[in-house]
Amino acid sequence: MKLTNNIGCMSKAEIENFADMVLRACGYDCTMRWTTAGNIMITPFIYIDEHNIDQYPYLTKYWVLHEIAHIDTWPEDDRHGEIFHSRLAELIEQFMGCKSFGEVKNNA
Ligand SMILES: [Zn+2]
Repeated sequence: MKLTNNIGCMSKAEIENFADMVLRACGYDCTMRWTTAGNIMITPFIYIDEHNIDQYPYLTKYWVLHEIAHIDTWPEDDRHGEIFHSRLAELIEQFMGCKSFGEVKNNA
C-alpha cells in the first residue's frame, strides 16, 4: 500500500533535505545517496534505501539518524552496542525533538 503525504509521509526530496540538514549540522563531510540494497553507512556516504520514500517520518528519520550514528562510532562499535546507541539517542534528541531523553541525561 502506498502511503500519502496527507498523513505526513516523507517524499524523496524531504528525506534528502533531512539527511543534508543533519549531516551539515553535525559537521560531517558525508553525503546521502539512494540505494535499493538496504540502509548502510560506507564513508563518505550514508546509503538510504528507496523503500523509505513515502513512509512515516518517525521510521524514515530513524533510519537516516541510524546510519549517521555509525559515522562517529565505527569501527569501535560496529555491532549496534552501547556506544552506537548512545550516539543515536543524542541524534534522536537533537533532530526528532524527544525531550525526555534530555531530561534523563541531565539528571544522570
Ligand atoms: Zn546499523
